[in-house]
Amino acid sequence: MKIKDSQDLKLLNTFGLSVVAKNLIPIYSENDIFEALVAGFSPIKILGGGSNILLTKDVNGYLLHCQIKGIQIIDEDENQVLIEVGAGEFWHNLVLWSISQNLGGLENLSLIPGSVGAAPMQNIGAYGVEQKESFHSLTAILLTKGIRKTFYNEDCRFGYRESIFKNECKDQYFITRVRYLLNKKNHKLNISYGAIQDILSSNNITNPSIKDVSNAIIEIRSSKLPNPNVIGNAGSFFKNPVIDLSSFTELQKIYPNMPYYENGDGRIKIPAGWLIEQAGFKGRNDGKIGVHKDQALVLVNFGQGHGKDIYALALEIKDVVLDKFKIDIHPEVNIW
Ligand code: FAD
Ligand code: NAP
Repeated sequence: MKIKDSQDLKLLNTFGLSVVAKNLIPIYSENDIFEALVAGFSPIKILGGGSNILLTKDVNGYLLHCQIKGIQIIDEDENQVLIEVGAGEFWHNLVLWSISQNLGGLENLSLIPGSVGAAPMQNIGAYGVEQKESFHSLTAILLTKGIRKTFYNEDCRFGYRESIFKNECKDQYFITRVRYLLNKKNHKLNISYGAIQDILSSNNITNPSIKDVSNAIIEIRSSKLPNPNVIGNAGSFFKNPVIDLSSFTELQKIYPNMPYYENGDGRIKIPAGWLIEQAGFKGRNDGKIGVHKDQALVLVNFGQGHGKDIYALALEIKDVVLDKFKIDIHPEVNIW
């Protein structure tokens, strides 16, 4: 185990924010974690790919940077394959691996940045699919006691961009390995969302494969989303609010063009990006930080910004949206 003193985290978070980690420790195995715990390191924070955090100040204490690698098949039958993946693998590399093996389940989650260990944290989702649909179980280490625990799907309390690890168990566990159950046969593709079908049709694909769907999603994402290597961001800053039907009906009388989606439980999901745009924030910036000009849900750092200013902007957006629509929006990004 090697401790790196006073490390600038600029290259380790996709907002590209420059803050100092007092002690940064790369973690290659469970043993490295046990060593840190035996040494009494505290407080501990865990860093994956840094694509879902907003750094508002220096990180004191010990920052464990997950680098646990490996993808292996641990069980299979004629229909399915159970794989185990090191938490430090890049999520998109796992998706590409699954596609190279012609295994279905993760294709709609193509090109999501970050690590495998963070995927269950907020139950990553895109294009109508969430990781919980293929998730089998994970291994995590309880940091206060140094004991290993297995969490099965139902233990994780997965919800819309939520899990037990963002709530009751926040900052308590280091996720080391995640297991997914992928389909060899009879895999049902989900191509109903957004422009997937249009892209497939424009490429004359009538009977798409898993790879075709992944390629279509990569094409859509590359054209729509700001690339963090070009402009610092952490994807969607806020979660889409879900409101009850009576509030929705009242709001729709005032905003008849408001986009909405039925949530499947009688409630209605409103795209937070639309609310932020209507509140007048789309494209607003001070030259250092701001709201993306095309995607109002994405807050950006143009290079020289500070996390505390992005956070102040997020709070202002939240207040204005609450005032205008009586809808309280909540960050998806973890504020440090
Ligand atoms: P980090 O940002 O490093 O950490 C996030 C949180 O997880 C922190 O609280 C951290 O402490 C914790 N954590 C990380 N690793 C571990 C571990 N091994 N054990 C315990 N806790 C851990 N998200 C979506 O859901 N869908 C999308 O489509 C999507 N698109 C995105 C597009 C862009 C351009 C960007 C920048 C982000 C996007 N995101 C999306 C958000 C982000 O990519 C995901 O949330 C991703 O899972 C974060 O992974 P990470 O390794 O970067 O996590
Ligand atoms: P989009 O397709 O323009 O849609 C805007 C919003 O409307 C999305 O947030 C989405 O909700 C919702 N939506 C669209 N079609 C829907 C449908 N058929 N059923 C239910 N909800 C629908 O969104 P986008 O910004 O280009 O993103 C595309 C996908 O990638 C979305 O799933 C989005 O969540 C995901 N994504 C996530 C992040 C992140 O950081 N979390 C960043 C970029 C993209 P949902 O978000 O609930 O899907």
